[in-house]
Formats: sequence, C-alpha cells, structure tokens
Amino acid sequence: MSELDSIVSLQQTLSELAAARQRLDGIPDWMTELHSEYSTRKAEIDQEEQVAEESDRLRREAEAAVADSQEKLKHYQGQVSQVTTQREYGALLKEIDTVKESIKTAEEQAITSIESHELAREKLQQLQADFEDLDQRYKAELSKWEAEKPEVEAKAAELEGKVDELKSGLSRGVLSLFERLYDRTNGDALAEVHKLANAKGTAMWHCGACSFNVRPMIAMEVRGGNILHCDSCKRILFWIEPDPEEEG
Ligand SMILES: [Zn+2]
Repeated sequence: MSELDSIVSLQQTLSELAAARQRLDGIPDWMTELHSEYSTRKAEIDQEEQVAEESDRLRREAEAAVADSQEKLKHYQGQVSQVTTQREYGALLKEIDTVKESIKTAEEQAITSIESHELAREKLQQLQADFEDLDQRYKAELSKWEAEKPEVEAKAAELEGKVDELKSGLSRGVLSLFERLYDRTNGDALAEVHKLANAKGTAMWHCGACSFNVRPMIAMEVRGGNILHCDSCKRILFWIEPDPEEEG
C-alpha cells in the first residue's frame, strides 16, 4: 500500500471513528424524531410545573401578608381604648382602614393564586397523562439504544486500533502534514480528483472538495500515488480508478 493509499484509509477510518463517537455522545438517528417530541413535551410539563410552583409561592406570600396585616390590625384595635384626643382617634381609624384594605388586597391575591395554582395543576395532570405513553415509548427506545451501545463502543475501539496502525505506517513528515490538514479542515483533509469533460470533449480535472482546477500533470502524479495538494484548498488529492463498467 502506498503512503497515499494509507492516508486515504486513515481519513476514512477517522471519519468512521468520529461518526461512532458522535453517535455514542448523542441520540441515534432512528431516535431523533421521538427524542425531539419527547423533549418538547417534557419542556411543556416543566414549564407548567414552574407556573404551579410560582402561583403557590405567591399564595404563601399573600397569606403571610394577610397574617402580618391582621397582627397590625389587632394592635391598632387594642389602641382604640387608649386614645385621648379626637385627632389621635381619627389618625388611628385611618391606620385601621389602611390595614383593612391591605388585608383585603392580600386575600384577593391569595385567592387568585389558589385559582391559578389549581388551573396549573389540572393542566399539568392532563399533560402528564398525555405524556405517559410517549414516556414509555421513549424509555423503551432508550433501553434499546443502551443495549446497542456496547457494539458501537467495540466498533470505535476497533477503529482506534486501526488508526494507530495506519499512523505508525506513515513517515513522520507525511503524518504531521496530514494531521495539520485534518485539524485545519475539521476532519476532512483529503479531496478526490474528479474528471470532467469540457464542451470540446477534452478531459479536465478538478478538486472534489473545492472544485478548483487540477492541472493534468498533477492529476497524473496523484494517480501514480504521489502526495500532492489542491492549489486552492490545499487538501491532499487522491485518485480513485473509475469502475470500468461505469465508464461511458
Ligand atoms: Zn481543493
């Protein structure tokens, strides 16, 4: 195997490995639709739970305000027998009115909060009932995926072994060249030389990644196994012999 062939295998193996790792970190393709539905419905439930909690918090706050104002009211009412002047009496009555008004407002707030809380609980119960079936399906799919994972993990380990083997077969210069390109191109270091005929029927070659023109000399050298770059995107070029049956 030429070094160029090894690089092609290395790129291929690294892509498979990246796909396997991505699969292990995420949700498999066959689960994405269910996962998205599950997440949406779950978010709805979470949001409704927040509404329920918030209304409950407001109720407690209102009830505490009622209790507080009632204490004040008692205190003022206790002072009624102690006032000596008409002016003090008037001021006290005004305080009593104000505190009674606060009690009324807080009580109304408490009732509103209780109503919103009950509404949220009802909605939540409905959402949870509707969710049950989806939740069961999701859990079943998830355990199916968990059961498949070891196989994907084993495959990833096998690919890692193959990557090490291929890397060890490359000269240091070629390996570091490949690795630099692999990083720079986000894991897509190679480009196939594509052939196409122009209007006059003359064969032309171009880079399969960026479509930049590949000079005929370069195309021939790549075909011969030499490691050369695309003039534009700098990817390492490779050549795949066309299938004779597809040649037209
Ligand atoms: Zn290119």
